[in-house]
Amino acid sequence: MGIKNNIAKFSTLLASRGARLVAVSKTHSVERIKEAYEAGQRIFGENKVQEMTEKQPQLPPDIEWHLIGHLQRNKVKYVAPFVALIHAVDSLRLLEEINKQGEKCGRIIPCLLQVYIASEETKFGMDADEVRALIASGLVEKLTHVRIDGLMGMASLTDNQSKVRTEFKSLKSLFDELNQRSLPPNVQMKELSMGMSSDYALALEEGSTLVRIGTAIFGERPPLPR
Ligand SMILES: *Cc1c(COP(=O)(O)O)cnc(C)c1O
Repeated sequence: MGIKNNIAKFSTLLASRGARLVAVSKTHSVERIKEAYEAGQRIFGENKVQEMTEKQPQLPPDIEWHLIGHLQRNKVKYVAPFVALIHAVDSLRLLEEINKQGEKCGRIIPCLLQVYIASEETKFGMDADEVRALIASGLVEKLTHVRIDGLMGMASLTDNQSKVRTEFKSLKSLFDELNQRSLPPNVQMKELSMGMSSDYALALEEGSTLVRIGTAIFGERPPLPR
């Protein structure tokens, strides 16, 4: 198939659903990212700060870099100048650090809150009550250099489609519930980041606006060096 064809295929599919593609380029070379860029792709997702900061200066400036992996507070400063969206914010302390670094760069940094929806694996994220409490705390609106644009979640890694669907539905229902509320001025429920190569079709049916797809575009990832 090739990267170009895969990008074209997803562009058509997602346009019909009103969703956008985050091409997950972690472990893949700058050359392969360029191939996707030349096919028109502009949003790329990386899960490691160091890898993203190494690739970013080697690639065109109109790429939107999304950080999709767990982010440690001491690494926020490296991505703050350019990151377009941080998908995996899972605590007030992390949000406060992003705010501090955003202020230093004179930027408002868009973020998503990561919600824990998988039942079986240990994945990062807040539960629904923690998300409700954070948004109602009165603290988020004090963070003038962050903006919360929505929610992100990862379903269980399982072949059980109905389980995955239930998990996506739970995230969508929290998203819809929050959308009914009066939210702080720097919080909006606009983006719902869910779905990867194995489960994007279900995620789209359940209302995803951003799918994060690596393998189905770039092929299998090379094994990580140890
Ligand atoms: C790697 C990764 C993806 C993409 O996974 P694929 O199965 O290759 O599509 C999506 N989201 C996150 C958070 C990831 O780390």
